[in-house]
Amino acid sequence: MIIRLTLCLATMLAVTSTWGEAQWYKGATHLHSLWSDGNAAPELIIKWYEDNGWDFVCPSDHNVLMEGERFVRIDEESKLTPARVAELQQLFGDDWVVFKDEAKNKMRLKTLAELRAHFEKPGEFTLIQAEEMTTHGGNPHINALNLREVVRGKSAKDQEKATLIQYYLDNIKAQSEKYKVPMITHVNHINFADRITTEEMMQVKGLYFFEVYNGHPSVHSWGQAEKGIPSGERHWDTILSMKLRRDPSYLLYGVATDDGHEYFDYRVGKSNPGRGWLMVRSEALEANALVAAMQRGDFYGSTGVTLKDIRASGTSLGITVDGAAGVTYTTQYIGTRKGFDTATKPQLDANGKPLPRSSLLYSDEIGVVLHETTDLDFTYTFKGDELYVRARVVSDKIQDNPHEKGDVEMAWIQPVLPK
Ligand SMILES: [Zn+2]
Ligand SMILES: [Zn+2]
Repeated sequence: MIIRLTLCLATMLAVTSTWGEAQWYKGATHLHSLWSDGNAAPELIIKWYEDNGWDFVCPSDHNVLMEGERFVRIDEESKLTPARVAELQQLFGDDWVVFKDEAKNKMRLKTLAELRAHFEKPGEFTLIQAEEMTTHGGNPHINALNLREVVRGKSAKDQEKATLIQYYLDNIKAQSEKYKVPMITHVNHINFADRITTEEMMQVKGLYFFEVYNGHPSVHSWGQAEKGIPSGERHWDTILSMKLRRDPSYLLYGVATDDGHEYFDYRVGKSNPGRGWLMVRSEALEANALVAAMQRGDFYGSTGVTLKDIRASGTSLGITVDGAAGVTYTTQYIGTRKGFDTATKPQLDANGKPLPRSSLLYSDEIGVVLHETTDLDFTYTFKGDELYVRARVVSDKIQDNPHEKGDVEMAWIQPVLPK
């Protein structure tokens, strides 16, 4: 925790002084390819991100790293049809596609090393090794970024969610120490399938990142009130508020991701790329630097809103929005005041029985809007009674190809702790 605190202070100093040389880099940290259940070859997906302005991509297939030999069957009934193989040959050259044998009915998937050799350009585009550590039979799913060894997913059977999350987090922490490189774990789509409750998240030690937004159409980023499932942001405010009472240096950062699986049919209802991403302020477009910047909280999640600047200190949080003509941006500073009401109650169905796998209901004093402005450039000065302050920017621009119809473009700025 001392190290974390030092890093936080370093960020604040850096943000307000020598951070001028750092740049914003756009990245995707959660996506799938034919290495697991995505429906496109990894090179096609990475090309999509590169062509569309992303600077770094962390392909994160389920329980596997892109290494060794893996062949995928080619036929009209599989994800890899002859036409898709022909498309790869057209885009990357005839020699690019490697078949298993002369029958030419199986294609070898490109490894991360091969993809790096083809795509990476210093200062322009980079790939980070990642994996979605996936529990068999339900949540949790946790992304590990910049890892060096695969971590196999466990079975959900008879295991507590918090125990499973702790297992994955501890594993990556040990791996990071072993290889002496910074790694990040983010808990994915809390509200997916049998979900993770707010209380289960709070039991975990060393949890610093989670997906506040995931662009997959079936993960309920905005919550499901009728089932007692809070939105990603409500989970966020509750976890921060309850944990900060006992650990005054605790921080939980929110990431935005695509969780793309489908790359040929772009519309609502499909899990497409380009819906949620990170902007990371880093001195270099390089895995260790990007991960370290994220660990300092020097990044924001976005579904379309771009920021020019974030100025975080122990006394204020300033945000400058890069506004588009004709769009209104509302910046909300959100936090919980010290001494808030900590009472909870279960969420009940119409018969008075607790809703299955619901989170508890917490007071309205958690996650209140402390200030709201439509100014593109604003600095909120802390009043001194806030446990933490975070911000979000909500535009009135409907997102292209949203994960749920009517989603507007937004951005989520990381929480800071008043000193
Ligand atoms: Zn998942
Ligand atoms: Zn996923």
